[in-house]
Amino acid sequence: MFAVGLTGGIGSGKTTVADLFAKHGIVIVDTDVIAHRITAPGGPAMPLIEQAFGSRFIAPDGSLDRAKMRTLVFSNDAARVRLEGITHPLIRAETERQRGTATGPYVVIVVPLLIESDTWKTRVDRVLVVDCSTETQIARVMRRNAFSREQVLAIMARQASREARLAAADDVIVNDDAPLAQLEQEVRRLHRHYLALAGGKPT
Ligand code: ADP
Repeated sequence: MFAVGLTGGIGSGKTTVADLFAKHGIVIVDTDVIAHRITAPGGPAMPLIEQAFGSRFIAPDGSLDRAKMRTLVFSNDAARVRLEGITHPLIRAETERQRGTATGPYVVIVVPLLIESDTWKTRVDRVLVVDCSTETQIARVMRRNAFSREQVLAIMARQASREARLAAADDVIVNDDAPLAQLEQEVRRLHRHYLALAGGKPT
């Protein structure tokens, strides 16, 4: 199935744009949702995480203690690599499963760190970047997550730069407080384009 990788920095508007593609009947595979599911109670990552990190990273309900793990991996690169070694293969496998069972002309796969990963770039047929200014990103995430400016900046520092993302893009949606109608129009234009591209490729 032809796949569009949808990416962008935190708060750029990935979810907002993905929702607009879904309105055209396009199946959305969201790697963030999958990442949450595999670390939910009973999720396939949980026994492996417990084995690797110990039970103190498991919340009472059996899910990943996200706050504790976030604190660890932010300051400890080896731990981050170990955690990703567990989660990434599971996320990739589930993404491919959903892509394989999806109906429709193409799928949109939402991957926040697509540019940062060589694996993802080669797995999608097209890279769509949602772009906005750094200040817009900061303001949105402070509002949405009740984060401090410093917290948002710390997350952004771990993500690719705006320039790197734009350099890797096949298509770009500029979302600096674009009115919804404008976003809808952009998505409609790209949807037509992707229909044409996907048409040439067996699903
Ligand atoms: P991401 O998934 O990239 O983190 P979201 O789609 O969740 O970003 O958008 C971040 C926040 O900004 C959300 O609260 C969303 O409602 C808001 N937002 C996104 N695009 C716009 C826009 N064009 N105008 C106003 N608010 C927006």
